[in-house]
Amino acid sequence: MVKDLLKNSAVKKIIEKSQVKSPWLVHYDCGSCNGCDIETLACLTPLYDVERFGVINIGNPKHADVLIVTGSVNSRNKKVLKQIYDQMPAPKIVIAVGSCGLTGGIFRDAYNVVGGVDKIIPVDVYVPGCPARPEAIIDGVVEGLNKLKEIQQAAALAS
Ligand code: SF4
Repeated sequence: MVKDLLKNSAVKKIIEKSQVKSPWLVHYDCGSCNGCDIETLACLTPLYDVERFGVINIGNPKHADVLIVTGSVNSRNKKVLKQIYDQMPAPKIVIAVGSCGLTGGIFRDAYNVVGGVDKIIPVDVYVPGCPARPEAIIDGVVEGLNKLKEIQQAAALAS
């Protein structure tokens, strides 16, 4: 029944528009100092209040459109990161936040650090900084939603 609904182009359009206008985010912190983690959560506080733009932070990757990853990837958390990514339905966007998320940051030479997020999963948007500022993270989300729109348009042309 759900599959039949998804074949309906009007329903499909509503879903695609909802993904861009009110994206659901899941945040995973691979580890590190938690500075970028704190700045990411600051985006949800009344000062930055991303929810006013329809952005909702959720806990279940199966419902998420956007994955925000902070911290450096290591040999223990790489499997978890991959599992979270694999559970998200397509189309999906990945945003790597902070120097640790981009390259491993100051932890890159540690014995168990693999490096940045893109060593394990594809990354669409890179938000630099140590820590990344909330304004930059919000900008990264906007950039990610533009990419999501491009993916939707490409899929529509291909079908
Ligand atoms: S980039 Fe800097 S602030 Fe962010 S998690 Fe790494 S060390 Fe901490």
